[in-house]
Amino acid sequence: MIYNFGSVNVDNVYRVPHLVRPGETLASTHYVQVLGGKGANQSLAAARAGAKVEHLGAIGAADGWILALLDSAGIGTRHLATLDDIPSGHTVIQVDDQAENSIVLFPGANRAVPNEHLEAAITAAQPGDWLLAQNECGDLSRVIELALAKRLRIALNPAPMEAMIAGLPLERIDMLFVNRGEAQMLLAALGDQVEEHDHQRMLDLLAARYPGLELVLTLGGDGVRYANGELRLARPAFLVEARDTTAAGDTFVGYFLAARQQGERPEAALALASAASALCVQREGASSSIPERDEVDAFIAA
Ligand code: ADP
Repeated sequence: MIYNFGSVNVDNVYRVPHLVRPGETLASTHYVQVLGGKGANQSLAAARAGAKVEHLGAIGAADGWILALLDSAGIGTRHLATLDDIPSGHTVIQVDDQAENSIVLFPGANRAVPNEHLEAAITAAQPGDWLLAQNECGDLSRVIELALAKRLRIALNPAPMEAMIAGLPLERIDMLFVNRGEAQMLLAALGDQVEEHDHQRMLDLLAARYPGLELVLTLGGDGVRYANGELRLARPAFLVEARDTTAAGDTFVGYFLAARQQGERPEAALALASAASALCVQREGASSSIPERDEVDAFIAA
């Protein structure tokens, strides 16, 4: 089982002729409301990859449709709290004719997950289950502490990155996913300066700091690098025409962790996750662009 402690957002996406200017009132020509948030995206990706997933977090009471949507994707929602006094995390996203965007984010319920709720969820987990977490939600340090005490395996995708991440007991977790900006910021917080294009050095420095972890460094169109003890792997990205890279990292994390949890070797997990995110970047949208497992298998076989 993967217990994913993560954000759930309601994304309100407005198509506009140009991004609204100070003092201006602008009519939008098209509006959609969709599920978003790194947490929900990663739960969907892991579930679509075939893993059993329970989502930990919180939403506002007005958004029961989110529970139904996660349920229909096979994701457990027993540990997704419904809060009466605070709305769901949500965004207001403007997208203009040039595909530029601007985003207002209200973290809402994501930042108000009750601690007793977290404790109940981790108590229900079994040693050997995975805790997956990002950094858009509640008390990350507390949930890691609880998971360590329960001897869960821990996978962390510290996005968005902030300096406090370097103060977490990362040497005691099992898997760390970072993109190059996150790797650079984490290393800087640890006192190591590294150029953003020096991928090998980034990985080597992280591996020296955290020798017991599986380290996954995603590099956008440049693919991915991986370290696990002495093992080093690198994989180029699939050559595809990227239309919208939103949720590429989330798709990668969910698919890679699901594959490893199901016993796939690192090479195979990297191939599967790279293919899933290559499909994702060819589609517009966030959660809607995360592919199903059979599409990914067909893409690899083609
Ligand atoms: P994030 O979204 O967290 O910044 P990345 O941009 O590193 O993550 O992308 C994650 C993965 O998605 C990459 O390792 C790669 O496999 C895939 N990917 C991203 N951009 C492209 C692209 N332009 N073409 C093909 N695959 C891509």
